[in-house]
Formats: sequence, structure tokens, C-alpha cells
Amino acid sequence: MSQLRAAAAAGGLRRSGSRAVPAARRSKKGASPRGGTQAPPPTPHVFSDPAEIGALRRNLLAWYDRCKRDLPWRTLAATEPDADRRAYAVWVSEIMLQQTQVATVIDYYNRWMQKWPTLQALAQASLEEVNELWAGLGYYSRGKRLQEAAKKVVSELAGRMPRTAEDLQKLLPGVGRYTAGAIASISYGQATGVVDGNVIRVLCRLRCIGADSSSPAVIDQLWDMANALVDRSRPGDFNQALMELGATVCVPKAPLCRECPVKQHCRAWRRVEKELAFASQKLFGKPTAVPDVEDCGVGGCPLCPPAMEPWDSSLGVTNFPRKAAKKQPRVARTATCVLERRGCHGAPEYLIVQRPSSGLLAGLWEFPSLPLDQDLQEEKQREALADHLRAWTGWPVVAGGLRFVGEVVHIFSHIHQTYVVYSLPLDGDVTLDPALTPSRWVTEEEFHASAVSTAMKKVLKAREKQRGEESSPGKGSKRKRATKPQGANSTRPGTQLSLRAFLRPPTSP
Ligand code: SF4
Repeated sequence: MSQLRAAAAAGGLRRSGSRAVPAARRSKKGASPRGGTQAPPPTPHVFSDPAEIGALRRNLLAWYDRCKRDLPWRTLAATEPDADRRAYAVWVSEIMLQQTQVATVIDYYNRWMQKWPTLQALAQASLEEVNELWAGLGYYSRGKRLQEAAKKVVSELAGRMPRTAEDLQKLLPGVGRYTAGAIASISYGQATGVVDGNVIRVLCRLRCIGADSSSPAVIDQLWDMANALVDRSRPGDFNQALMELGATVCVPKAPLCRECPVKQHCRAWRRVEKELAFASQKLFGKPTAVPDVEDCGVGGCPLCPPAMEPWDSSLGVTNFPRKAAKKQPRVARTATCVLERRGCHGAPEYLIVQRPSSGLLAGLWEFPSLPLDQDLQEEKQREALADHLRAWTGWPVVAGGLRFVGEVVHIFSHIHQTYVVYSLPLDGDVTLDPALTPSRWVTEEEFHASAVSTAMKKVLKAREKQRGEESSPGKGSKRKRATKPQGANSTRPGTQLSLRAFLRPPTSP
């Protein structure tokens, strides 16, 4: 299977996780991405029969009423009488659902709504509190933007949420076309469609759209289709039903087509059935015509699969959607140092520092870290980290005092990040200039309650694993890069290094 097909079969866009479709990629209605006028899409790729649209709406909504999952934001949206509170409750859920799967979001959502049940409460929170609650959800900037937007609603809009999808998108930072449509349809009953990863998958299969599903032409077509299909009397339920179908039935890899409430409207499924019927007739030796499984019949159709990637019978309905091959993530290496001391009851404490307030992981806390050049050798990276710590603390830190812990890999959406982890046990206090970098000592419990990234939790876990191995030497794993003893700076397993010893330069052989 080609990379392109593998990506398509896997669902491409990440919803369950990712809901949003970049608004910027969408061209103006009626205009082609290159500026010309767009021809209407070929009939097989649209819903043009009002009777069929009506039947699809009824079938989908009846299924949703029977099978929908019981989720806290749905309960709030259905029971909250105040429109602003209702919109806020939906908004929070939609932003969180852009991060990860429903099962993970529920706990975060409940904690968030308990802590900040209203826009006004959220507007008064500190960024630190927001980051702490968001920790582990990823894309920390989304939590930050949500809070900034709440502040704006309170200070500039008198606490009143904009009442249409257009105004929500226009007035609230971080609210794109998808989120605006979801809030407006679910909270206010505005008859506007939504397009997220699940909807893309379902619509592409319903109408055999096999062109790159992230291209502006296809995204335009899908928004038009979503707006045409949305039920006028129950738009919020219809949109949620379409997304629910994508999340539970029309899933990326093994869709449950036989149980699907809209299979009679699905052209991809019709193709599969035709092929199956043909195969079984052939098996029993019955003369039969070759099934019509060709593309829509319009030469050079911009919505059909590309000529080089035609329909593949072995994939069935998962021929759709297709997505351009994903850009490879950037590879990055960072040296990071777990600075630790014994706390008042002998339990370890760790020094963490705060990241800058903009950029990746803005405002989060981490172990002192230093980005590394890709091909830097181990001794050089150790020296670079020692230099960094020396400049940062003002002490004569030496490379030989840093103990190698291991490498920790963390995949951000666009970065393949490797942390080269060292530890540095201290027996003295370390106070850094707060004007340089905010820093603090934390216990393990405080560390996990702080606004730290999942990557940093992995780093601490690696260090704790090493400590466990040191305290049970028989079980220790073979470590390739153990630090060689260096006189006064030697770091015997299980011993705390004195700060003075650590700061002393290495002794000559
Ligand atoms: Fe998806 Fe299959 Fe239903 Fe078509 S029939 S919408 S492919 S689950």
C-alpha cells in the first residue's frame, strides 16, 4: 500500500483527536484556489436530491437518538438554560477535543468546568493555573488562547458570547470556522454545518471523494456539503451525529458499514457491494457484466482519486478519504539536566525552570535544558550542557559531573524530539537569579501537580528508574554510557555528590 493510501486508510486527520480544518486553507466560495470560477462538482460527488437529503437526516438523527454516548458537555448543552454558559461549555469541550480522544478529555473537562464553571471565572484565572490543568493535553497554546478569549469576552463584550458562527470566528481569538460552527449550532441552534476529521471521512466516503482531502478544493466542497446537509430543526444534534458516526461507526481502519444508519446513501459502500456481487456471481459461473466501479465519468474530475492512485478493491471504503503524504516531523535533540537534592524528609527534590511565555510549551516548567546541534558528539553535548549550567548558575560546573541517565523520545505533532537526559545530585541549595529565569525546587508530588509537559514527566520517570536500579544493583540494566569516575568528581551509584566536590575541576590523572 502506498504511503498516501496508508495515510488515507488510517484516517489522515486525527479525530477522534483533531477536529479543526484550517480555515486559511479554504478558498472563497465560488472561487478556485487559483482565482478562477469553480465549476459545480460532478453529480456523483454531491447530494442533489432533496428526498435523499431528508432521508439521510432522519436516519442519522434516529440513530443518534438511540446510540449517542453520554458525555458531560452534551448534558450541559442540553440542560443549561443560560446561552452564554451553554456556549462556554461547548467551547471548552470543542477546544479540548481538538487535542485528543473523548475518553481522555472527559476527566480534563470535568475538572476544568468544576474549577471555572463560567467565562468570568476563567477570565480571572492565571496562566499558570490554566497550564497546570491543561498539562498532558498537548498544544498548550490552545488552553492559553481559550483563557485570553474568555478575558476578551468579559472585558470587551460585556460577558456576552457572540451569537452567530460568523461573529464567534471574527471576534474570538483561537476560534476557527469549525469551532464557531460547533458552538453556534449546538448552543444556539444556528443551521450551520461543521467539518472536522470525522466529518471529512464520512462525507468523502458517502460521495466517493478521493482527491487530497486537505486540499482547498476538497475542503470547500465538504463545507458546502455539510451546510447543505445540516438538519434545519436540529442542527446541533445533526452535526454531533455526523461526528459521532465518524468516531464510532465510520472509523478510519475498519468501518462497521453493515451497521451504518446511512449506508443506503453511501456511494463507497455501493461500490463495495457491487464488487462483492460480481465476485460471487463469477464464483458460481454466472455470466455477468463487469461492475461499474469506474470514477464519476467526468474526465479530469478534481474530486475523484488521482489517476495514479485509482480505486483499490482490497481497501474497500477505506479508499476514501485520501490525504497528501504527511510532512516528516522536524528532528530535534535537547540536553536536559535533572538537578536534585535531598528534601527535608530525605525524599528527592528537583529544580525546575520556567520556559519563555511564547513559543513551544510557552510558560511551562521543565528541567534546565539546552537545544543541541544534530551531530554533536556525546562529550561535546555534555560540555555544552555544563557550559549552559555554568552560565546559568554562575558556578564552575564541569562536564564530568553530569551523569548520563538515558535518552527520552517524545513526539510532538511536528517535532520528533529526543531529550538526552543527565542528572546532577547536589547537597547544597541553589538559588538562581529570578530576573534571569523563574525557578523553584519541587518534590515529586509538586512536580506532577505543576504545569509540566508530558515529555518532562517522561524525563523524571527515566531518572527515577535509574535511581531504582542503583538501589538494587543486581537488577541494574547495562548502561552504555556510564560516566567514568573522575577523582573528586566521581559519581558512584547511590551516593549523593557534594556540591563542592561537583564544582571542583576534574583532577589530573
Ligand atoms: Fe462509512 Fe460504511 Fe457508513 Fe459509508 S456505509 S458512511 S463507509 S460506515
